[in-house]
Amino acid sequence: MKLILDTEACTGHGRCYSLAASLFDSDEQGHSVLLASSVDEGSLSEARAAVVNCPEGAISLVDD
Ligand code: SF4
Repeated sequence: MKLILDTEACTGHGRCYSLAASLFDSDEQGHSVLLASSVDEGSLSEARAAVVNCPEGAISLVDD
């Protein structure tokens, strides 16, 4: 699966990098930075948690 971050939509709530620290980090303004675009089986639950908890709908998980 592939993780996509819409940096224009991100307003920096920080839920993604709190819930999925292996996949997201924050920049100096608190906006999300994608650490890995390819999601393996072991990171799938973290990735899904980030998708459903982003209040801006800025994170998508798609088939690659
Ligand atoms: S949860 Fe969504 S809005 Fe918040 S930092 Fe992550 S991508 Fe941005």
